Amino acid sequence: MHATSLAFEAQSKVALANPALQDAMGNIKTGWQANRTRAAAALPEFEALRDRGRAIKNHTLQHLDLYLEMFEEKVTAQGGHVHYARDAAEARTIVLDLCRTAEARAVTKSKSMVAEEIGINEYLEANGIERIETDLGEYIIQLRKERPSHLVGPAAHLTKDQVSDTFHEHHHTPRIEDPAALVAEARRVLRQKYFEADVGITGANFLVAETGSFVTVTNEGNAELTQGLPRTHVVITSIEKLVPTMDDAFTLLRLLARSATGQEFSSYTTLMTGPRREGDLDGPENLHIVLVDNGRTKMLGTAFQEMLRCIRCGACMNHCPVYLAAGGHAYGWVYVGPMGSVLTPQFAGIENTYTLPNASTFCGKCEEVCPVRIPLPKLMRHWREVQFERNLTPPTARWGLKVWGFFARRPALYRLGTSFAMGMLGLFGRKAGRFKQLPLAGGWTVSRDLPAPAGTTFMAAYKKSGARVR
Ligand code: SF4
Repeated sequence: MHATSLAFEAQSKVALANPALQDAMGNIKTGWQANRTRAAAALPEFEALRDRGRAIKNHTLQHLDLYLEMFEEKVTAQGGHVHYARDAAEARTIVLDLCRTAEARAVTKSKSMVAEEIGINEYLEANGIERIETDLGEYIIQLRKERPSHLVGPAAHLTKDQVSDTFHEHHHTPRIEDPAALVAEARRVLRQKYFEADVGITGANFLVAETGSFVTVTNEGNAELTQGLPRTHVVITSIEKLVPTMDDAFTLLRLLARSATGQEFSSYTTLMTGPRREGDLDGPENLHIVLVDNGRTKMLGTAFQEMLRCIRCGACMNHCPVYLAAGGHAYGWVYVGPMGSVLTPQFAGIENTYTLPNASTFCGKCEEVCPVRIPLPKLMRHWREVQFERNLTPPTARWGLKVWGFFARRPALYRLGTSFAMGMLGLFGRKAGRFKQLPLAGGWTVSRDLPAPAGTTFMAAYKKSGARVR
């Protein structure tokens, strides 16, 4: 755990008052969000693909042991090595040992959220190994000593001007305005680093059991150079990335690019099977795949198993009003937005992450756009139930829920109570038409007025309208 998610509320307030962040988050709405809508509408079988994607992942999770064995067998037969890591500490030790065996002084690294999850960056640096991020967004935030704020766009929280300032400060270049020139500047610095690295570290979007292959997806081609140039390639990934067949991987790839950025396919989609063979022109001599569990097998068979279908597309956060207002850093850990609000309590403990499952309006948009149909609101609600059962919910909320529960189980009393309350609010609010302050509603009225209710309940108005009540 890098930072406690208990700080979500305070960090969100800071984010809301940050105009540059608000500008950058606005770009997500007009960019990825709008592109995903267009891409989904342009593919007639998109909804059917989502069903297929869900079925593939459900099937794999049901037979995970079988597919893990199959994958390991294929990788080993091709000269690669599979390492299992039960937790983050074990994964870090395995990766460091592999780097030491390769006598690595410098490693290049392409984007891997599992690598962030296990905290490999700090660990390698603490052990004297230089790390160079090769994904443009990751490189920018490495210079700024920040963490990724989005699954797909780690620097989604930054504006172009902030990137220009960062290069000006660290590369000592004149200020660059043109985005293409900014990319060229990063490329100029990174090219040489690829040749100097002893080990390349990547993640993997999918692992294919039938062939022992893995798939990486980027828009910059940096994963290909990271895995192909150094003598040793280490893949840090997690066990739920498995799919049975190559066909399955391609079904999910069609969903991934459209859901993430609205592209039909990412610019670079690379399949790699085994280390360099005789006659190959390039590729690593040594291939190691580190499969991280870190609590995932404990999710199998529980309500949270559905979360293991996630293909890390970021669509849920691109459409989440809370994420779009607060930004990724407010969530305090690697996984952010609605998927982070479900996953982080799993990794960090619900007692340390109280606010996250509550940081949702339950508008349902996240579930609506999730390519593998993960019921994110249901899972967040489930965490809220766990909080209630473990007495983690604040006393005011507990008492409020108890009172509500008492009335909800007595419909006649409930109707009487709500009619009385609405009548009173309607009466007192009639003149001004709104409340500037209201007992028990301070959280709402602190930043906006509460419109005065009509003075009657919805059901009473509905009955009065003459419509049939079922
Ligand atoms: S939960 Fe769904 S929408 Fe969110 S990142 Fe995962 S696959 Fe994408």
